[in-house]
Amino acid sequence: MNILVCVKQVPDTTEIKIDPVKNTLIREGVPSIVNPFDGYALEAAARIKDKDPTVRIIVLSMGPEQAKAALKECLAIAADKAYLVSDRAFGGSDTLATSYILTETIRKIEMLEGGLDAIFCGKQAIDGDTAQVGPEIAEHLDAPQVTYGLEAEVDGSVIRVKKEVEEGIEVVEVRMPCVVTFTKPAWDPRYPTIKRKMAANRAEIPTLTAADLPGIDLACAGLKGSPTKVKKTFVPQKRTGGIKIQEETAADSAVKLFGLLSDASII
Ligand SMILES: Cc1cc2nc3c(=O)[nH]c(=O)nc-3n(C[C@H](O)[C@H](O)[C@H](O)COP(=O)(O)OP(=O)(O)OC[C@H]3O[C@@H](n4cnc5c(N)ncnc54)[C@H](O)[C@@H]3O)c2cc1C
Repeated sequence: MNILVCVKQVPDTTEIKIDPVKNTLIREGVPSIVNPFDGYALEAAARIKDKDPTVRIIVLSMGPEQAKAALKECLAIAADKAYLVSDRAFGGSDTLATSYILTETIRKIEMLEGGLDAIFCGKQAIDGDTAQVGPEIAEHLDAPQVTYGLEAEVDGSVIRVKKEVEEGIEVVEVRMPCVVTFTKPAWDPRYPTIKRKMAANRAEIPTLTAADLPGIDLACAGLKGSPTKVKKTFVPQKRTGGIKIQEETAADSAVKLFGLLSDASII
């Protein structure tokens, strides 16, 4: 069985800054990490492999050369093989173009590694935050999908997924090949061992380019192939001022608040 995990390298911060001219993320000077939700997807795959060591885990990232650092981290944790897909023609891709390029790369990896039984993704990337790429890959592949996964186990030709829903947890079964996106479970992902870290550092990660993807239509990739056009980005002005009421007791605070509101003719 082969599981492919899509991994995005993201800035190690939740305070994303936007270049107001180019309308793209400012990545310079910000350390990068594996998108945390992709770490949960990798751990879910690793738990399946714990039960069946014949399972192979392949990780795939689309991004610049530096994304190989994220892939090496995944190799150190649990992955058996990693691929980077990178090409200047892919720059400026929105989520639809990104999922299209990832899907074409998945098709290529199937030619190289054999059929993929499951594609695991994070629920969302902490920088782009759209949560669109996983479901879009499922649509491109015409494969069934489960979102908000917490845990997954393989049972014959199906994957049984515990998924988060508003009212609690739902257990769904989906036939393979399928796409599952993962959210934060109750447990933490495993740490890499020193031995795996050393092997990952030595690993050669193949880079696939547009020329390696036989079916790709470049009209659907990159900035030109992206239907989403960012018209404007801006950072909302931070609110200033405000009064903090912190009297000795809650009753005194209430009296003070009442006074201020009545002085302002609000009550
Ligand atoms: C017009 C436009 C231009 C853009 N140009 C650029 C650009 O030049 N460079 C740039 O970096 N971003 C660019 N972006 C942002 C880029 O489209 C998104 O970051 C990307 O498509 C993923 O969307 P997301 O981050 O919301 O991922 P989500 O949909 O939130 O991610 C869900 C999951 O999909 C998988 N996934 C997502 N992205 C990748 C990836 N790259 N590789 C592997 N797995 C992945 C992961 O498993 C992730 O957890 C642009 C966006 C727009 C709208």
